Amino acid sequence: MIERSIVTELEGIVGKDRVLTSPEELAVYAYDGTFYEGRPDVVVMPLSAPEVSKILQLAVRERIPVVPRGAGTGLAGGSVPVHGGIILNLAMMNKILEIDGVNSVAVAQPGVVTGDLQNAVEQRGLFYPPDPASLKQCTIGGNVAMNGGGPRGLKYGVTKDYVLGLEVVLPSGDILRLGGKSIKNVTGYSLMQLFVGSEGTLGVVTEVTVKLLPLPKARSAALVVFPSMERAAGIVNTILGAGVVPSTIEIMDDTTIKCVEAYLRMGLPLDVEALIIVEVDGDETSVASQLEAVAQICLENGARSVTRATTARAIDEVWLARRSVSPSLARMRPSKLGEDISVPRSAILPVVKSIQEIGRRNELTIAVFGHISDGNLHPNILFDRRDPDEMQRVEKASREIFAAAVGFGGTLSGEHGIGLLKREFLPLDLSPQVIEAMRAVKSAFDPHNILNPGKVFPN
Ligand SMILES: Cc1cc2nc3c(=O)[nH]c(=O)nc-3n(C[C@H](O)[C@H](O)[C@H](O)COP(=O)(O)OP(=O)(O)OC[C@H]3O[C@@H](n4cnc5c(N)ncnc54)[C@H](O)[C@@H]3O)c2cc1C
Repeated sequence: MIERSIVTELEGIVGKDRVLTSPEELAVYAYDGTFYEGRPDVVVMPLSAPEVSKILQLAVRERIPVVPRGAGTGLAGGSVPVHGGIILNLAMMNKILEIDGVNSVAVAQPGVVTGDLQNAVEQRGLFYPPDPASLKQCTIGGNVAMNGGGPRGLKYGVTKDYVLGLEVVLPSGDILRLGGKSIKNVTGYSLMQLFVGSEGTLGVVTEVTVKLLPLPKARSAALVVFPSMERAAGIVNTILGAGVVPSTIEIMDDTTIKCVEAYLRMGLPLDVEALIIVEVDGDETSVASQLEAVAQICLENGARSVTRATTARAIDEVWLARRSVSPSLARMRPSKLGEDISVPRSAILPVVKSIQEIGRRNELTIAVFGHISDGNLHPNILFDRRDPDEMQRVEKASREIFAAAVGFGGTLSGEHGIGLLKREFLPLDLSPQVIEAMRAVKSAFDPHNILNPGKVFPN
């Protein structure tokens, strides 16, 4: 419990109306997108970097844990205050400070919702490509902290590929300005990138400068049905080998297809092993030729059917199945554990087969879907948390899935991060020396371990 005098000091920094202490208000900040739970002692909503700086200095002085929070959509337990303390809610720092068309950059406060940033730059003919499925809720600060990605990863990369500048407040209270609007910058260590993906454990991001691209003039999509998973998994390299780089290739396995069809009844085939969605973008002529090339390649390589979508409405319909995966899976069993492994493209087929085998061996339903073009797969285990025997099998299966991913040259997480969910599995992926080097970085920036304690590192 935090003493009343500390709350009064916090109120002195940000004002009374931006400090929350009632049990009802605190309960709202006890969760993220996982099943972890942890009640904060107080929620503070700063409006500026100097306010964040004062809050962190107070927290260091009193050794109070501070958990930065954007929208709380994280899927690793990262913003859950398991040790209580202060939730630093950055959602009110939500202004787009500048859209600079000459330099093709945008400058935003951390609480700007990613989708709002995308819409704002698109109105100026510009494009911010990173597209987490949560973009209508998650914040740009949360994306930087998690190095968020999305379906467009293969062609356009992820958040780290767009961050040009950051303002970060350290636990010491120091406010660092790193990078800026220059595309190239190799002055000193690449400290800025260290904060991208640091999961709120090294510093608090209070301003983000991102690179923008010209907005593609057109896009089209195709829904492709593959009777064989083997042919579906191999199609990415065939498409790339033909010189076409789609903006997106998503895959759904047979379990996922069945769950979506049970939910939507949209006529998806139930006798096939995989379905993929391919999207291409560019100028109108190139989009038409890319779509035709993709359709031909798929049909020549084992696809049963290709549904082409060239209007905004038709593209939206093609995406409906993929967009509905999470709600379709959620209604099958009381609990769902979404993993986020990432493997080299060549390992997609063996890793999918391994996951299916892990499901059979542990008598669990595991649906596999994800961003096949960049090797980032989301095996989702469906189960009931109240059943201790099933919980044990889920934990065993998770470990086996991670081991399979690492065994095939992949990694524990492609975009959701480690947080609480995967911290005990870190040694499966990283050597003791690497973990020790990371711990040294953590203690250099946060010697008193007040910033998001208990996250990322194994106990
Ligand atoms: C339905 C659904 C779909 C999703 N799809 C995707 C997807 O396609 N791709 C993807 O990458 N993720 C996805 N996610 C996960 C999540 O949306 C991302 O991790 C996102 O980047 C989190 O942003 P947030 O603002 O909600 O951050 P939060 O959940 O509030 O915080 C996440 C982490 O970032 C830290 N943090 C937040 N803001 C700051 C800051 N300003 N400074 C320092 N640290 C900070 C927190 O301490 C925490 O550790 C999905 C989540 C859901 C619920």
